[in-house]
Amino acid sequence: MHHCSEAEWLALWERGSRWHPIDRALLLCAVVRDDVEPEALADLPIGAVHEALLRLRRELSGGTLHAFAPCPACAERVELTIEIDDLLARGGTGAAGIWEGFGLRMRSPTSRDLAAVAGKRDLERAALELLRRCCDAAFDDERLVLHRDAIESGVESLDPLACIETAFACAACDRRSSIALDIGALLWSEVATAAHAVFAEIHALASAYGWTESEILALGRERRAAYLRQVAS
Ligand SMILES: [Zn+2]
Repeated sequence: MHHCSEAEWLALWERGSRWHPIDRALLLCAVVRDDVEPEALADLPIGAVHEALLRLRRELSGGTLHAFAPCPACAERVELTIEIDDLLARGGTGAAGIWEGFGLRMRSPTSRDLAAVAGKRDLERAALELLRRCCDAAFDDERLVLHRDAIESGVESLDPLACIETAFACAACDRRSSIALDIGALLWSEVATAAHAVFAEIHALASAYGWTESEILALGRERRAAYLRQVAS
């Protein structure tokens, strides 16, 4: 894992801020998977990208995730506490496995596959197109339509972290449900929040002392905090 400086995090946030969420996830993945060529990251199984993002989140701000999920029965906002180590223990990522069934050989979807179907309005067609990309069938191959659920479960079994389903129970109505955790969006929002906190500090110190952004970043966190206390007093 590459350890980014604050200046590198700000540059990363700036680069990704106008990008599609799929590309942002790959930008963050590149920090962890410096063993993979940047252009090859899009060809990793989605679960391998998610695994990298979970490890990055654990490194940056600890192994416990807090998220909210709406209860599908009563709309209560349920707070979820999720341990990253528990998610990583689901494992099975990184290997390029093949699932075979109904005469088809299926591999796991990659970010490149997701990007190819991302803009499609017809979600049914997009889901079929995604499956078709992961095997050698023609678009109108009936097997993909007839056995879609079984094929999708088979493909999911290849890559357990491709969809990070988390079960929860609603405290208000007791309904048990599950939600898919979007680790890319969650981590990106944390990176954006951290970047904006640093920008606020730079703004305060630049206004008070006339220092440049790079001078302020070069101070390091401790000294910056000490000067900020002076400015606030
Ligand atoms: Zn409920």
